[in-house]
Amino acid sequence: MDLRSDTVTKPTAEMRKAIAEAEVGDDVYGEDPTVNRLEELAAEMFGKEAALFVASGTMGNQVSIMAHTQRGDEVILEADSHIFWYEAGAMAVLSGVMPHPIKGRNGAMDPDEVRRAIRPKDIHFPRTSLISIENTHNRSGGRVVPIENFKAIYEIAKEHGINVHVDGARIFNAAIASNVSVKEYAKYADSLMFCLSKGLCAPVGSIVVGSKQFIERARKARKILGGGMRQAGVLAAAGIVALTKMVDRLKQDHENAKFLALKLREIGYMVNPEEVETNMVILRTDNLRVDAHQLLKTMKERGVLAVAFSDSSIRLVTHNDVSRSDILRALDVFEKLFKEFRL
Ligand SMILES: *Cc1c(COP(=O)(O)O)cnc(C)c1O
Repeated sequence: MDLRSDTVTKPTAEMRKAIAEAEVGDDVYGEDPTVNRLEELAAEMFGKEAALFVASGTMGNQVSIMAHTQRGDEVILEADSHIFWYEAGAMAVLSGVMPHPIKGRNGAMDPDEVRRAIRPKDIHFPRTSLISIENTHNRSGGRVVPIENFKAIYEIAKEHGINVHVDGARIFNAAIASNVSVKEYAKYADSLMFCLSKGLCAPVGSIVVGSKQFIERARKARKILGGGMRQAGVLAAAGIVALTKMVDRLKQDHENAKFLALKLREIGYMVNPEEVETNMVILRTDNLRVDAHQLLKTMKERGVLAVAFSDSSIRLVTHNDVSRSDILRALDVFEKLFKEFRL
């Protein structure tokens, strides 16, 4: 049972067929019909003028940052965001910009704090040119950042002539859990990145959406990063299946995560099912004799994989390749482990 991440999902049979039959061309010349179709579809779904297919979520975030900023600028982002934690310092390396992290609540930054973090015009200060919001918020356990928070931050950004980027790697999970469309979230974003390769099961790829002008700059940034791909239609074909067939089923992942959380709490684990809004469960190890790393090691020996979020917490993610019966089998393992490890 691989509960490490929704990135482990394998392409579906329908994707493999679409890949085999994909019409392709050279995408750097703009001539791959399948990539073009995927980009048009994505732009349409998000209510934006244009879209760009990129190799990964990290590349999508970084081409966006590169397109929005100049060297020496500052980017306001959440202190536990993926861009700050998990992208190997890319914004500094590639765009020469600094992060200005703000600690959020369940992944949502306080708009007043964002306002205060914007640098006034002064020869000493970097220029604040971008604010980034992450939804769903990974390190807070897949929490949904509410649309009201998007609106408030976007309004502040526009008052100051600043752009807003959304790291929406799992924006479809947010949309389903909150019953707010991805189009509505995208209204309050100058750019938005989402992943095809996570819960949506495509083997590779993410998309950035935004205005025509922005996407033109992002396309150039993608070329700089070596992300101009040729017959990428074989990948885009799976992306089209992801967007047209795999979105609605995310609901099942959310139900499975909720079920898993409720059962883990019944066993005695420190889990808060009320905090499970999408496809992630955070389990704390404070009431066990072992820390997160030792727990993971024993889980692995018994066939259940997860990842550590700290020395005292692990993350479990539900997805298309774990069924309800897999979850039940994982729960059997958890039940035995609790008896062995409880304090
Ligand atoms: C996974 C993820 C990314 C990056 O995606 P990769 O395809 O792994 O580079 C960015 N942001 C968030 C919130 C993510 O969960």
